[in-house]
Amino acid sequence: MSLPDDPEAREAARWNHRPPVPIAQNPLFQWPPRIGKILRWYGAYWFEVSTTTLCLVLAFVAYFMILPPLEAMQRLEAGWMIRVWLANLVPQCLCAGLLHYWLIMRKGQNDQRKFDPRDQNRSNGSFTFGNQVWDNMFWHIASGITLWTLAQIGVFWAMANGFAPGLLFPDNPVWFVALFVLLPIWSSFHFYWVHRLLHWPPLYRAAHALHHRNVNVGPWSGISMHPIEHLLFYTNFLIHLVVPSHPLHVMFHGYVQSTHPVFSHSGFENLMVKDQPQLKMGVFFHQLHHRYFECNYGTVEMPWDRWFGSYHDGTARATDETRARKTQMYTR
Ligand SMILES: [Zn+2]
Ligand SMILES: [Zn+2]
Repeated sequence: MSLPDDPEAREAARWNHRPPVPIAQNPLFQWPPRIGKILRWYGAYWFEVSTTTLCLVLAFVAYFMILPPLEAMQRLEAGWMIRVWLANLVPQCLCAGLLHYWLIMRKGQNDQRKFDPRDQNRSNGSFTFGNQVWDNMFWHIASGITLWTLAQIGVFWAMANGFAPGLLFPDNPVWFVALFVLLPIWSSFHFYWVHRLLHWPPLYRAAHALHHRNVNVGPWSGISMHPIEHLLFYTNFLIHLVVPSHPLHVMFHGYVQSTHPVFSHSGFENLMVKDQPQLKMGVFFHQLHHRYFECNYGTVEMPWDRWFGSYHDGTARATDETRARKTQMYTR
């Protein structure tokens, strides 16, 4: 197949589905401020079915139905620690497993809204067990869910023993609610800097290359990372040692950090039911990072990439710029 001459048509032809470009960024950081756009942006997270509202529901279910009260977490005992692990493991595997089954095995929506035209790799020596899906499941569960759970166990233990500032809803209802909105912004901020650090060549080779085996991502790629990367990634729970919060926030934070990536790495922009988009999933911004590497280290929530010159907005010009930057980085 020969590629078209026009650069923009050529860029579009690399994808099975390319959302409108340049891709949208959080209007909160655009000048002059457009209140309507900002409200619509946040409304789509909080007042519609979204991965954010899913994370919120999971946090309430975990807190009220699975976790014991904080007083029971003063000592590091297996019973409650296993409950925290199950509260993470079960929904995480259900989300990734069901999505993988529907999108990739059943091909339930064919290629509708699928970014990359290719299928996932079945046999490829660069993956653990020589298979992308087995590789991703192994690192996701064995390293990802384990270190995510251990980080939360540390926070709960600190809260139960008075080493971390607690917060109850009646103490400060406004802050209690606001923290749910602020935690994903904190996650985005932290992710950009950790991710930039992971692209420092020695650390990239030692750890982050494992996540980047996935040029063509799938649901299990979400938190398929090296343990060193997980250690860095989950340092963002340290915020609970400083900022007053409640176990509900800690659980929500964990799902935002870990379950959201299952959807954002799904490779499909939307979950379709009867040819209608029902849920926003794949994030083209991050799909571009997996395709072109040295761009889009952050998320669309904060404009770090725009400010530091690594923003790929999905256009052909941005691909040229990224390739030039890559050549410059590797020939220095
Ligand atoms: Zn990366
Ligand atoms: Zn990724």
